[in-house]
Amino acid sequence: MRRPMVAGNWKMHGSEAANGALLSELELRLQPEWPIDVVVFPPFVYLAEVARRLRGTSIAIGAQDVCAEPGGAFTGEVAATMLKDVGCAQVIVGHSERRRWYHEDDALVARKFGAALSGDLTPVLCIGETLEEREANRTEEVVARQLGAVLAMHGVAAFERAIVAYEPVWAIGTGRNASPEQAQAVHDFVRRRLAEQDARIAAATRILYGGSVKASNAGELFAMPDVDGGLVGGASLVADEFYEICAAAAARH
Ligand code: PEP
Repeated sequence: MRRPMVAGNWKMHGSEAANGALLSELELRLQPEWPIDVVVFPPFVYLAEVARRLRGTSIAIGAQDVCAEPGGAFTGEVAATMLKDVGCAQVIVGHSERRRWYHEDDALVARKFGAALSGDLTPVLCIGETLEEREANRTEEVVARQLGAVLAMHGVAAFERAIVAYEPVWAIGTGRNASPEQAQAVHDFVRRRLAEQDARIAAATRILYGGSVKASNAGELFAMPDVDGGLVGGASLVADEFYEICAAAAARH
């Protein structure tokens, strides 16, 4: 059985005071015995402090991005080994905001995926289509291409240590989530693509849904058989919302 997961992508939000207030509430309310993984992804500058604070709790920490290179003369970049060093367990690669605003293409995302694995971090690979692509009936083609770039570079075995997040671009930060049926259809497609190469790995790979997940829709999304939890942006900054989303994931099985 795949363990449900809720990931909170703080994006470029937060401050020492706001992070402290949010984490205090979550630490108080989240139940450590819930059979789920909860991971928060603060901006780089707060990682070390948040990791220190969360040590010994049931909440893990990840980064929102990683350099594709292992280290060296790459001003402004952060290596996977550094993320590991300060306590990260996971890293998001290929978020649509990185693809869109920083022109990260499939090949670079695949290299970042590999850098994460080499640094002993679990990559959370984001894939998903734009509204234009969905309306042109190209959703499967797009997610197959994005997933395929990683499969081609690292092989299906790499997914034993990875998480996939299906995030339709049109649903991110828009308040308009994919319907549970739309999400399930793509998650099923992704799992079948993995199964073409290895059925056991496909069955074990966690596929999260991301795109305007909130307390009010988490239950119905997580009730879908191939939706193993959520990658949550805006609602992860609101303690009540994030708590309810985690509770919905805990109730999944
Ligand atoms: C995200 O940041 O990956 C995301 C899904 O954002 P939101 O939940 O705000 O749509």
